[in-house]
Amino acid sequence: MPARLPLAFRLALGPELRLWAKAGHAPVLWWRDDDARGPTGPLEQLLSLARRREAPLTLAAIAGPHLTDLVRRVETEPGVEIAVHGFRHVNRQPEGRGFGEIVEGDEVEWVRSQLRATVMAFHRAGVAPSLFVPPWNNLRPQLLEALPDSPLSAVSGFDQNAGVTGGVARLDAHLDVLRWKDGARFRGTWKFLSRMRRLLKQRRLAGQWNQPIGLLTHHLDHDHATWLFLEQFLAIFPIRSRADLMGDAPAEPTALSA
Ligand SMILES: [Zn+2]
Repeated sequence: MPARLPLAFRLALGPELRLWAKAGHAPVLWWRDDDARGPTGPLEQLLSLARRREAPLTLAAIAGPHLTDLVRRVETEPGVEIAVHGFRHVNRQPEGRGFGEIVEGDEVEWVRSQLRATVMAFHRAGVAPSLFVPPWNNLRPQLLEALPDSPLSAVSGFDQNAGVTGGVARLDAHLDVLRWKDGARFRGTWKFLSRMRRLLKQRRLAGQWNQPIGLLTHHLDHDHATWLFLEQFLAIFPIRSRADLMGDAPAEPTALSA
C-alpha cells in the first residue's frame, strides 16, 4: 500500500487501515465483473485495467451467440477467469418482486437441466468454469440444491461471508462500484469507501482478518467517473484471485438467507 493515500481514501479509510497495519494485517480483496456477453470496447478497457494493475479478475459471462468469441479473447489473459452468469440472464420474477432468473415455484429438476445445458454451452465455447454467479445475485435454494450435481463447485452472491452455503462453497461480492436506481452510474467515492470502512471494521472486530471483500463491477455500465475511480482503487489495493481464495476458504458455514 502506498505511503501516501489520495485524500478521499485517507479521510475515509486512513484510521481503519492504520488499525489493520498495527495488527499486522492487510485487507483481502477479490474482483468480480458481471454481464460479459462478448468482446466489446468496454471489455478491452476492463482487461487493460486488470493487466496494468496486475489484478486477477473473475468475469461472470452470459451464454449467448458471442460466448465463443469472448472465451477466445480472454484465454490469452492469464489473470482472467470466466464464470457462469445465469442461464440466459432473463428476469422471471413477477412484476414488483425484484429480479431473478430462478423463481419460487421452480423445480430443482428444472434448475438442474438449465445448469447442465448452460455448462455445456460454456464447454462448447472452449472453457470449463467452476463458479456460478446468479443474475441479480438472486441465490435461490433450488440453485444450491442443484449445484452439487453439476460440474460447478462454487457460487457467488452478494454481501455474505465466504464459507459454505447449503453444501456449496461460496465467495460473495460486497462493494458495488455502481448505483442502479434511475440508471447505472458511479456510486461515488465517499459512499463506496464508507461502505468499505464498515466492512473492514466488521472484520477487524470479529478478528476475521482473512475474510475476503469482493469488488463488484459491470464493465458495460461504467461511466467515466467509475473507470477513473477503479484506476485509483486498484493502484492502492492488491487483488487476490478467486481460485487462490477459495483454495483456503474458511470452513465456517454461512446461514442461507432465502
Ligand atoms: Zn448480471
